[in-house]
Amino acid sequence: MITIDGSEGEGGGQVLRYAAGLSLMTGEPFTIHNVRGGRKKPGLMRQHVTAIEAAAMVGNAEVSGLSVGSEELTFRPGSVVPGEYHFAVGTAGSTGMVLQALLGPLMQASEPSRVVIEGGTHASHAPPFEFTARTLLPLIAKMGPKITATLDRHGFFPRGGGRIVVEFDPSDLRPIELIDRGKLLSTKAEAVVAGIPFDVADRELSAARKVLSDWPEDAFQSVQLPADHGPGNALLITAEFENVTEVTSGFGKIGMPAERLAKTAAKRMAGYLGSRAFAGPYLQDQLLLPFAMAKGGAFTTVKLSEHTRTASQLIERFTGTGFKFSETGEGTHLVEVAPG
Ligand code: ATP
Repeated sequence: MITIDGSEGEGGGQVLRYAAGLSLMTGEPFTIHNVRGGRKKPGLMRQHVTAIEAAAMVGNAEVSGLSVGSEELTFRPGSVVPGEYHFAVGTAGSTGMVLQALLGPLMQASEPSRVVIEGGTHASHAPPFEFTARTLLPLIAKMGPKITATLDRHGFFPRGGGRIVVEFDPSDLRPIELIDRGKLLSTKAEAVVAGIPFDVADRELSAARKVLSDWPEDAFQSVQLPADHGPGNALLITAEFENVTEVTSGFGKIGMPAERLAKTAAKRMAGYLGSRAFAGPYLQDQLLLPFAMAKGGAFTTVKLSEHTRTASQLIERFTGTGFKFSETGEGTHLVEVAPG
């Protein structure tokens, strides 16, 4: 039984989701105390409960302590059963985060799976749908498993109501090296609005244009969704390279001026474009699990995040596979798998 102190390192929900996925893949049970101990309001929130329920259902796990507010949880994995699943977070809690708990077990299962997840698709502090679909999944495909994600309906904070469908064609993972982005092929900034004044999209695009001033005019696009999909607003900025696609994002909320949100998301993209790293700040921690499963490979990235350090320690505890981090200059870091 692996014992985890949930307040260590990043101290958030990610450690839980990754632990559940790792437990299903390795057959190791775990217990976690001080769940989300690094957060102002510790304990499980609705979206964490759904993520663990989803992992437990897919992997026939026995779980105790699984309720909103709980600060201690024990997870005993059974065997992973691929197939058709449907999970609903019930709030705007992130569908992409629920997927984080399932990705590892289902991408190397014995048969294909189809998973429908309902909840939030575009909210802060979580991967927006486009990040998962454009950035993460194509890289996993290069390692073997083909996973396709479809956005059926957007779900914004606080209402939720979004829906994604994810289809898994599993396989073993092979090690790859993600070092060179290749040439820049296309750029796009999409301001998505639903049930809020349309000029918000225009204001966001003009603010983004000021930062990304060398991007062509037609890269800046506004998308109006049916009002009943909102209220909601997301800015998604995408740079497609030959070997990787980066998506930075910003999400509207009350009290957040459209210009500020857009400037932050655009500056993040400018920062990535100005670096030589392959993986941006969020892709980093999300690549660790597939790389550990491949038992080899390396990638370059920007400054290391606390999420990455926490996830790497957790992965090493479950699998014995660790990571070596080194600085290669100009703020770029090399992450190499160090098989145990
Ligand atoms: P908590 O509520 O405890 O903060 P959480 O469950 O919301 O926890 P974190 O532990 O902070 O989540 O993990 C967030 C995860 O979402 C990480 O894997 C991170 O890489 C990813 N993430 C956050 N923001 C983005 C973004 N803008 N784009 C892509 N991925 C993101």
